[in-house]
Parts: sequence; structure tokens; C-alpha cells
Amino acid sequence: MLVRRQVLAMLGTTALATLAPSALFAAAPIKPDEASALLVIDVQNCFLPGGSLAVKEGEQVVPVINKISKAFANVVLTQDWHTPGHVSFASVHSGKKPFETVDLPYGKQVLWPDHCVQGTEGAALSKDLSIPHAELIIRKGFHKNVDSYSAFLEADGKTSTGLAGYLRGRKIKRVFVAGLATDFCVAWTALDGRKAGFEVYVVEDACRGIDTQGSLAKAWADMAKAGVKRIQSADIAVSA
Ligand SMILES: [Zn+2]
Repeated sequence: MLVRRQVLAMLGTTALATLAPSALFAAAPIKPDEASALLVIDVQNCFLPGGSLAVKEGEQVVPVINKISKAFANVVLTQDWHTPGHVSFASVHSGKKPFETVDLPYGKQVLWPDHCVQGTEGAALSKDLSIPHAELIIRKGFHKNVDSYSAFLEADGKTSTGLAGYLRGRKIKRVFVAGLATDFCVAWTALDGRKAGFEVYVVEDACRGIDTQGSLAKAWADMAKAGVKRIQSADIAVSA
């Protein structure tokens, strides 16, 4: 009994000791430097209210992203950019409905309503996004037979979008990810960013999720395991 109590007491001390530094870390504002970039993922009409694949509360990320973007010298935007009849559309798989899955040569693919078709109004970036200093737009998912949630790699896990090379060429070491949707394009971008050797932060209140079949909880768990840091927009120092 005594031993058990001692063990419990030790556990209590350890828990306190591990809690304190992280609490201190969270309190210090993060100042993005020249080696930092903000990646703004898929803030496009199709994913916003009225769009064909609207993410709940998706419009709420826009003012948050506009605000934090002012803290970044480097901002990269992404645009989901599919061919008509893209393999990720439920409409091209007979008998399948959106949010069901199919097995494709590169793995399991969630099927979506038609969205972000190249050159359409739905694929356009939100007109409310106000980041004139954004320096690059990465388009993804433009190969008809391969999807691309990630801004770094297509869903086959090997075809590069060129983003990692661009960031390395600009001497960027850390990326901050915001946008839509948390559990798909944001999470896959964050995970691939880690694999490519970047320090990765996801700004939680600058993202919204789709959350189908537990995907949101799984995405956060996968990101935590990969060393992605979960922060809030208030953690970033933005000068007025
Ligand atoms: Zn898509």
C-alpha cells in the first residue's frame, strides 16, 4: 500500500513537471520570421457556404487567416484544381454516393461531390481573402486519376507538387498551416510537411473540418504523433 502511494505521488510530480514547460511555451507569442511561411489551404468557393462541398463554418476562417497573414513575410495559397470527371468525384463511380469510399491503385479514396473544377467560379479563391502579399499559388489535384489533399504530394504518395523544393529554395524552415479542411487537406499538408523535414504548426481556429467517420479526431491524433504543433491564432504575434 505504501509503495503504491509513493508511486502515485511520483506520478503526480512527473505530471506537474511535464505540464509546466508546455504551459510556459503556450504563453509566449510566436513571432514568424523570414524562415517561416503561412500555407493557406483551399479557401475556395466550393468549400464555403453555398459551395458544392461546403465545410461547416468554413467562412469563419477567412477573417482569422487575413489577420494572421499580416505577421508573415511569406504566404503560399493552395487551390484544389480538378479536371471535369475527376477520379475523386462520386459522380464518376457508378452506384457510389459522396462520402463513400473506393479502392484506387494508390489506396482508399473518399468520394466527394463534384467540386473545384478548373476555371469554374467554385474553384476560385474566396473574394473575402485579403492577402495581397501572397507570393505563390500551388494548384493540386489536376491529374484526372489521382487526388491531392496535400499541398506537398499527390495522393499516390510520390508525385511532388514542387512545394517542398520551393520552400527549401526560399530557405523556409517552418510552416504554419491554415484553411480547409482540417481533417483532409490541412492535415495531409501538415503530415507531409513533417516528412519533408519542416517544423509544422497548425492554427486550429484558422481551420474547419469536414469530420466524416471520425476523420477529425484521427487527423489530430496523426498530426500529434508526427510532431505537428497545434496552436491558436492568438498564439501568433500580429502587430496592429
Ligand atoms: Zn478535391
